[in-house]
Amino acid sequence: MVDCIIIGSGLAGISAALTLQANRKEFLIFGSKALSEKIEKAEKIHNYPGLPDVSGKVFSEALKAQLESAGIEVKEEKVAGVYALKSGFTVLTQEGKQYESRAVILACGVESVRQIEGEEEFSGRGVSYCATCDGFLYKDKTIGVVCTTKRLEHEIGYLADFAKRVYLVPMYKNVEVRRENITIIQKMPTKIVGGKRVEQLVFPTEEVPVDGVFMLRESVSPAILVGGLHTENGHVVVGRDMSTNLNGLYAAGDCTGRPYQYTKAAGEGNIAAHSVSEYLR
Ligand SMILES: Cc1cc2nc3c(=O)[nH]c(=O)nc-3n(C[C@H](O)[C@H](O)[C@H](O)COP(=O)(O)OP(=O)(O)OC[C@H]3O[C@@H](n4cnc5c(N)ncnc54)[C@H](O)[C@@H]3O)c2cc1C
Repeated sequence: MVDCIIIGSGLAGISAALTLQANRKEFLIFGSKALSEKIEKAEKIHNYPGLPDVSGKVFSEALKAQLESAGIEVKEEKVAGVYALKSGFTVLTQEGKQYESRAVILACGVESVRQIEGEEEFSGRGVSYCATCDGFLYKDKTIGVVCTTKRLEHEIGYLADFAKRVYLVPMYKNVEVRRENITIIQKMPTKIVGGKRVEQLVFPTEEVPVDGVFMLRESVSPAILVGGLHTENGHVVVGRDMSTNLNGLYAAGDCTGRPYQYTKAAGEGNIAAHSVSEYLR
């Protein structure tokens, strides 16, 4: 069991990792080796103290170099669920692995794509966020897949191996995945409807019958990731020490609310890590 698991490798997660290391805590950080699309994609950053007019790419490279020289390695696994134990947490990843920690820092950012009507209602009743966790449930069935990032395109192929038919809504350019059983729909669905379970994915001018819908996003809503977590308008409710309503679970960065800014994310990551160190003491 490690002291802390950090979920997210954006500014909040990186800042938390550097602080935990300075505080001599044992931790794991999950996210992407590319760190964060929201750093990489910034054309010019004007408001980061000490780095005027830095490009997202240069900033990202500097952060990678800093992590490397600190000996911190980001684990490229996507967290599928966080479960509170009697003392500590179990963290399950979409890659099917399981980790345990005394504390958790949620630094998973926010998804800029809004939820679809019916998504939360049917979560667990046909709406899934994890291809590798739930894909096998849809063997020979018809599914809808809404994918917001090319980084998760491999998961579409994985789902197409099980399903009879896949209605794919790609929300990124240069779709490369091609299979006979994949039909691409270049329109945003308006809602997910059904009875006991999901039955249809509805578009402005048509609807397709589906047995399930996979929402493949860079970030999953914190409330879906952690059962029992208090959220308000999709943001984790935190105190000034970044604590949440769950003992030992802290949150930092965009996932705690506006303003969505690098400096806020870095500051909150730092506070969360100090609070975790205090909590562990
Ligand atoms: C194009 C663009 C330009 C911007 N320009 C500026 C600017 O100039 N100045 C400024 O202050 N702000 C800017 N922002 C806002 C800024 O990017 C965010 O406020 C900041 O990145 C938030 O950091 P974060 O660590 O909270 O989240 P993010 O940077 O979003 O990082 C979240 C991380 O968590 C990972 N993650 C999510 N879910 C999971 C999971 N289940 N398992 C494992 N990992 C997970 C993601 O892969 C990602 O690595 C910009 C944003 C965009 C999109």
